[in-house]
Amino acid sequence: MPSDLDTLQPWNTQTARFKRSRAIMDDATSQSAKTAKGTGKEKTVDDVPVKVTPRKGAASRKCSIGFDLGGTKMLATVFDGDFNQIGRRRRRTRAFEGVDQSVQRIIETIYEVLEKAERTKDDLTCIGMGCPGPLDLDQGIVLEAPNLNFKKVRLRKLLQEEFGCPIHLLNDVDAGVYGEYRFGAGRGARCVLGVFPGTGIGGGCVYDGKILRGRENSCMEIGHTQVIPNGPLCGCGLRGCLEAVASRLAVSAAAAQFALRGQAPHLLNEVGSDVAEIRSSALSRSIKAGDKAIERCVLLSAEFVGVAVANVVHLLSPDVIVLGGGLVDAMPEQYAKAVLTSARARVLPSARDSFEVRVAELGDDSVVKGASAWAQRATV
Ligand SMILES: [Zn+2]
Repeated sequence: MPSDLDTLQPWNTQTARFKRSRAIMDDATSQSAKTAKGTGKEKTVDDVPVKVTPRKGAASRKCSIGFDLGGTKMLATVFDGDFNQIGRRRRRTRAFEGVDQSVQRIIETIYEVLEKAERTKDDLTCIGMGCPGPLDLDQGIVLEAPNLNFKKVRLRKLLQEEFGCPIHLLNDVDAGVYGEYRFGAGRGARCVLGVFPGTGIGGGCVYDGKILRGRENSCMEIGHTQVIPNGPLCGCGLRGCLEAVASRLAVSAAAAQFALRGQAPHLLNEVGSDVAEIRSSALSRSIKAGDKAIERCVLLSAEFVGVAVANVVHLLSPDVIVLGGGLVDAMPEQYAKAVLTSARARVLPSARDSFEVRVAELGDDSVVKGASAWAQRATV
């Protein structure tokens, strides 16, 4: 895969030329007018949605922003019209400082990343924001996000007032799945189901190029589908949810017991038996060091994910299942294989060869890429 830096280089050359002076920039644009008609350089972005037309070369200054708003970190990236990444800024969210400060921090981060990309807010066509928690998708309101201390925050309105371009809020997991659909492991699929087992288990689905959603909020809460009737209590208050038996927290709790019983010596030696300390990376190292009991815990998580995936296969017939998140990263190939085996064993014979299970490719960039691409799609 070409790195972002490869695509960044020609753009930088062009920008350096633009920077020399406004006059030169105008000359350069008028000279290239034959091939890049209506580059939009002189246009300003109003409240009116702006059409985003991919342009060859670097004559256009138009850009979009993808924003990943997390409870601990926020990541903003700028993309040019050809979807090359031309700026990137990551900061701590510091949600404990309050809602006003958090919104201010988001705004500052956007200005900073624009500056890094040598763009201004007048060059912005749209911003896509991947946000946690239930959202009012149509109104652009974060209804409740405990990790951010957000409750009914009208984020779209606040950002629209500041930047004057269309702002699109979407669920962060949906943004990640859309990113994988457009640029990663889900490319070319008709229907992509994304499952991300981490501290919880997030899910999302892109069908015929659209993110599946409910009337107001997002959907595909695969983590709270029931896989064991009356099973263990989930953080949501229901019993037997996939998340209660297959999330990183569930696996870490089981792993801690094996460590205490002396059946996972490497894990015990490295991080002890405190669930909070048993993160995915520690699980991964313990498996590599030979803790078979921990490997079984992670593969059991994959088997449960396969149960939930089989149910979705019967409902939507996704052709690609994309798996990501910390637990998958602990042993990617084995985890994906175990999900496939488990799901195939639980679907109708006609569906057994109808889907593939792939490991996510974009890592931390999936949300920003997906959010920005979704915003561009929605803006056109
Ligand atoms: Zn639940």
